Formats: sequence, C-alpha cells, structure tokens
Amino acid sequence: MSDSSKYEAVIGLEVHAQLKTNTKIFCSCSTKFGSEPNSNVCPVCLGHPGSLPVLNKKVVEFTVLMGLATNCTINEKSIFARKNYFYPDLPKNYQISQYEEPICVNGFITIEKKDGSEKKIGITRIHMEEDAGKSIHDFGNYTMIDLNRTGTPLMEIVSEPDLRSAEEAYLYLTKLKQILTYLDICDGNMEEGSLRCDANISIRLKGEKKFGTKVEVKNMNSFRNVEKAIEKEIERQIDLIEDGKEIIQQTLLWNADLEDLFPMRSKEEAHDYRYFPDPDLMPVVVSEEWKNELKNSLPELPDKKKKRFIEDYKLPVYDAEILTSSLKLSEYFEAILTVTDDYKSASNWVMTEVLKIINEQKIDLNDFKISPENIGELINLINQKIISHKIAKDVFNEMLTENKSPKIIVEEKNLIQISDSGELEKEIDKILDANPKDVQDYLSGKEKVIGFFVGQLMKATKGKANPQTVNELLKQKLESRRR
Ligand code: ADP
Ligand code: ZN
Ligand code: MG
Repeated sequence: MSDSSKYEAVIGLEVHAQLKTNTKIFCSCSTKFGSEPNSNVCPVCLGHPGSLPVLNKKVVEFTVLMGLATNCTINEKSIFARKNYFYPDLPKNYQISQYEEPICVNGFITIEKKDGSEKKIGITRIHMEEDAGKSIHDFGNYTMIDLNRTGTPLMEIVSEPDLRSAEEAYLYLTKLKQILTYLDICDGNMEEGSLRCDANISIRLKGEKKFGTKVEVKNMNSFRNVEKAIEKEIERQIDLIEDGKEIIQQTLLWNADLEDLFPMRSKEEAHDYRYFPDPDLMPVVVSEEWKNELKNSLPELPDKKKKRFIEDYKLPVYDAEILTSSLKLSEYFEAILTVTDDYKSASNWVMTEVLKIINEQKIDLNDFKISPENIGELINLINQKIISHKIAKDVFNEMLTENKSPKIIVEEKNLIQISDSGELEKEIDKILDANPKDVQDYLSGKEKVIGFFVGQLMKATKGKANPQTVNELLKQKLESRRR
C-alpha cells in the first residue's frame, strides 16, 4: 500500500439534468417516459432535412431558474451551437448544445461537511442542450434504436475543479438534486437517468498548485456509485504515481456490478466536435425584466429554509437538515405545525416514526397514510396528558391502517390516560397487598423493585396510567408502609 495521505484529489463534475417539461426542446413532441418506442417523434427530432427547430420557452425558464438558484450570472444573450459527431442514436449527426456563450456562468453552491464546516463549490457554467436517443442492445445480434428521448431537454451543470474528495462530490451532487427538486424542474432520479453525472478526477501532491492530468469517469447510476467510483479512481491514480507511472488522459466507465472501472473504447472518445453556432436558431435573449420576473418566482431554497427552521423553530442543525432534505418533507413538517406549536416533538415524530415507515415500506411521502394534521393532534394529546407517549405509538400504528383522527381513536378504544389518583391508588393498594415480599425488599433499600410495581400497574391499567402520577403515588404508598 502506498502512502496516500501525501496526495489530494481534484474533482470537477459535469451533471446532466433532464428537465420536467411536457414537450421536447425544439419540437412539440411529448417527453413522456415509457411510451411505445419511436412514437413520440416528428421530422424535427428525427432530423429530417428541411425541418426547423423552435425553442421551447420553458427550457430557458427552467435553466434561468437554476442559474439564479445557484448564484450564476445570467447572460443576456446566449448562443446554440452544433456539436458534430456520428452516433446511431443521433439522427441529425449533431447535437444542439451551447458552447462558447452559455446561458448561465460563474455561480456557486454551498455544501455542508460532516464536521459542520461549509464550503463553496464554483459552478463554471450551466447550458441547455438536447438529449440523444437510446440504443437498446438486448435483441440478440441486433441493436434497436428508440428515438423517443431524442430532443428531450437537458441542462448541463459544470462545476469548477473545487471538489477535493468523493465525499465532497457526493454532497455537491446531493445539494444540486435538492435545488433541482425544490425548483420542480427535474425529478433528480439518477437510477432512472433523469440526473446523470460524469466525474473528472486528478490527483496532486498536497501544496502543489498545478493540476494533474484528469481522467473522466462515466456511467454511475446512483449517488453511492458516484462516491465509490471516485474513491476507486483516486486510489488507482495514487498507485500509478507511486509506481512511477504516468496518468493517461482517458475516459473510464464504472461497472456497478464489479465495482470497478474499465476504459471506454478509444474510438468513441476521439473528440473533434467542430462546434459552430447553429444557423437555424436565433440567439437566446433573456431580458432584465424576464430575469427579474423569474427571480421573484423563486421558491424558498433549501439553505434558506434550513436556516429558518433553526432560527424560527429552534431546531438542532441535524433536525433542520433532515427536515429540509426534500421539499415534500419540509412541507409535511410545517403542516404539522398548523396544529401544534411543539416544534421539537413534531420534528421527532417525523424523523423517527414517519421516516421509519417510509424507509421500511419504501414508499413516497405522498403515499404515507397519516396526515400531518393528525400527527399534530397526536402531539397535542400527549402534551395535554390525555394519553401517554406509549399509547400514542399505538394510536400512530392504528392511524397507519386508517387515517382517523387520533382523538376519535382514543375515545373509541377508551385509551384516555388515568390521572385520577383515587382510581390509581386503589390499584396500587391491591398490587402492594398481593406482593408483600417485594414491598419488604423496597423498604430494605432495594429501590429497583419500583420498576416491578410500575410494570404491574401498567398491566392492570392496560398502559393507561399516567407514568408520572404512578411514580409519585407508588413512592408515597410504599413509604406509608414503613410504619
Ligand atoms: P474539457 O475541455 O475536457 O471538457 P474542461 O476544462 O471543460 O475540460 O472541464 C471539464 C470538467 O473537468 C469541469 O467540471 C472541470 O472542473 C473539470 N476539470 C478540469 N480540469 C481538471 C483537472 N485537472 N482535474 C480534475 N477536474 C478537472
Ligand atoms: Zn419531435
Ligand atoms: Mg469542456
């Protein structure tokens, strides 16, 4: 093993986000996923001669929103360019993209590291482009081509080489996804390919200013795989350098099954795209007025929401981070607060009980049975000492099968806590009379026996006794038997 601590990694990510528009970027074909192959196509996206592209305004809108959310400068004028290459799933033999004059430049986002520190990661540029079709290779000796995806709008987000570890890359990607989904412009699903990430990786000795030769790693289809692939590549480069070998600039593909990297066939990466401005498309102009309109339509973004949760609800950073990790979860949490003002309890119920069920059942929050208002009501029932926390969990489980009001469940099932000391005292006397030896044990100093009595009493009252009252009464009753 080599001494890897001398080195630091330098990483820049190129992220493609599929935009949630109904129609394609340059024609009115549907972007619907899962349609019959080659059914969402027309002369424009099939690249027929003589057809002309017309830009979808929503694509510009979405990209400007992302640019604004990531602190970019929005260029008033940007240009579409043709990126020329041949590939069977690219019928025009060029991809319309942006090259020298992209729509958004010079932004940044902030990541929060495990140790609590924050780091700004620069965003070089964000540009608009069209997706290619899909080659499907599982037909024996044949490859079939589905052009439904051809012309689907993509946004490419290119980072500065500011990332220094696989963990930072993971956090950066997670933050990007969070922003995209808060803006509701991309569903952020890496497994389904609506978010794709290529990682450029090099290493250098710590303290060195110059960058090393970079290797591009592609084909990771989950956040964890991005992290793993980057770790693997950093290791590979360090081993090469330690062995006195050179890093060759190349593209590697991640194989998730083998958890390893393999070179792409070199022909496929011989790049000479001969970019030139697309003569069929006008420059894109984003007026100051339009930009401001979009700026005013921005929702509250995750960083800001997190700060507000910490300040307004006095939540720990950890809670605020989890509760704002997705827009839906943050909205669910705040809906609880329309019913109760016990912020911390609301946070606890969401972070433990609600998320536990969602993770266990692998469901979406949308499909979670219990309404946030009912969680709020449940918290109030505990705080008003109408039910104990233990009973509340039973009511919660009950609500999982039927989203009934917890108040009604508590009444129907007669779960109201017994705080009436008269009734409890009677039960306690019965239990103490029935267990004289344990009473003696307690009185001779074995205070732990009290747990046994509490257990007996809870059994007798089917868990409905108010635990605080029980403890006080038990001690009084036991002490009174000293004489
Ligand atoms: P190319 O010309 O190969 O497209 P770019 O300079 O456009 O390269 O950068 C592409 C991506 O690679 C960016 O995300 C950038 O931050 C990153 N990058 C550039 N140089 C390095 C390097 N030496 N090591 C790691 N990442 C790099
Ligand atoms: Zn079309
Ligand atoms: Mg480049």
